[in-house]
Amino acid sequence: MADYNVITIGGGPAGYVAAIRCAQLGMTTACIDKWVTPDSKPSLGGTCLNVGCIPSKALLDSSHHYAFLQKQAATHGIQCDNLSIDVAAMQARKGKIINMLTQGIAGLFKKNKVTSYSGTARLIGEKQVEITTPDGKKVITADNIIIATGSVPVQIPVAPLDNKRIVDSTGALAFDNVPKRLGVIGAGAIGLELGSVWNRLGSQVTILEALPDFLAMADRKIATTALREMKKQGFKIHLGAKVTSATVANDEVTVTYQDKKGEQQLVVDKLIVAVGRKPNTENLGAAELGIQIDARGFIQVDEHCQTTLPNIYAIGDVIGGPMLAHKGSEEGVMVAEHLAGENSEMSYETIPYVIYTWPEVAWVGKTEEQLKTAGIEYKIGQFPFSACGRARAHGDTSGMVRMIAEAETDRILGVHIIGIFASELIAEAVLAMTFKSTAENLAKTIHAHPTLSEAVHEAALGVDGRMIHA
Ligand code: FAD
Ligand code: AMP
Repeated sequence: MADYNVITIGGGPAGYVAAIRCAQLGMTTACIDKWVTPDSKPSLGGTCLNVGCIPSKALLDSSHHYAFLQKQAATHGIQCDNLSIDVAAMQARKGKIINMLTQGIAGLFKKNKVTSYSGTARLIGEKQVEITTPDGKKVITADNIIIATGSVPVQIPVAPLDNKRIVDSTGALAFDNVPKRLGVIGAGAIGLELGSVWNRLGSQVTILEALPDFLAMADRKIATTALREMKKQGFKIHLGAKVTSATVANDEVTVTYQDKKGEQQLVVDKLIVAVGRKPNTENLGAAELGIQIDARGFIQVDEHCQTTLPNIYAIGDVIGGPMLAHKGSEEGVMVAEHLAGENSEMSYETIPYVIYTWPEVAWVGKTEEQLKTAGIEYKIGQFPFSACGRARAHGDTSGMVRMIAEAETDRILGVHIIGIFASELIAEAVLAMTFKSTAENLAKTIHAHPTLSEAVHEAALGVDGRMIHA
């Protein structure tokens, strides 16, 4: 008999959620995770809690408060003279939040009776996992194994990290002072969010993006508004700019890039390389067991996240798709329920995307451009936050809500928001789409006044051409 019903390899949002759900469903479960803090303490939560979602949002919130006090407080009649920044205190606050949340997962494991192993896992058989720790090796067995080993930052040879002047996202979350001139390679969510933190704290931020379009995967109107708003905040954003080299000399980084005007140079004090993430299957033993892995390193799975070996599953960043914490967590829940014999499915069409810039950008479902390409007839309701009373009271009126519904059925196909707390507002749209709502269902839903959610309501009314406030 195996030691456990299930082992999850990886304790990030995919692996730890899968482990908890398996245990809730009565399976004996273990989770193996190798993450340790710089002082060698195990720290659950993976990239998300240690160097991803949570620390970035902690710094985004701190820097947002600073930018508010500096740029907006006076309009509220609040004078803030002699404002200053204590980066060490800001980082210490971030560290406390990480500690509290990672320890919280350890507590949840205890509560749910998930056995936690700290060490590096390697598959050595269909049911056998070897764990390596500083004290030696140990083998544990399980009937089913869930691989949730996540992803790591992509490195590019043209901009080699020295972890001092040229850093990846992890380094950019740990600066101990505000760089005067900051370069960012890559205008994806991570590059824009980390650029925002340091821009708000006073860096002159230049973003270099190889693609010609800004936020290519977003709705075009939303992307254009985001670009305009970020430029207003002082970002320099060069599109169609492919970095060809970055060299450190005299405490500066000289970045060479190619754009349509030819070869250009940028000199900065620090450079963040944020060019994407790649799946983490190094030394995992998966390929040796015959598990299919594609050319980019992603583990291949079917609709139940089952690999080519029937008792081994894979979830989260390591299988590709949107590299988002909530996507991995939901896959974890789905696999656990599938193992328990339940009929659980993953709804990839209703995964929300959020970029925590200011204003925030959030969307779910199809963009107008995708519908045009697919030849689907649609109607759009668009409501500006400038016409929303609560947004006025906040003093944050830029942006809009765009709701797209199928012309024939009125079913909501996509909702795209740029504006204050878009990250929270998108939840209503996700709920509506999950339950296959029509725009009319939302138009008939009573929204409290004055709230930002009224902008979502008005956009729903707008699909039928009957907005009240615009
Ligand atoms: P991970 O979180 O990467 O966890 C994998 C775990 O497995 C790690 O602890 C790793 O050490 C461990 N592991 C790997 N190999 C082994 C092994 N052989 N043995 C034992 N353990 C192993 N997503 C969002 O949804 N919202 C956000 O706001 C957001 N912000 C982000 C900001 C930044 C700066 C970054 C870098 C990422 C952000 N992400 C965000 C992405 C998010 O962090 C990932 O999508 C998410 O963490 C993936 O979860 P996962 O469980 O698949 O992998
Ligand atoms: P994401 O994968 O969403 O995190 O975004 C990473 C971004 O980095 C993509 O938009 C890439 O186009 C961009 N990128 C990758 N390599 C380079 C490069 N050498 N120069 C500039 N941008 C790059």
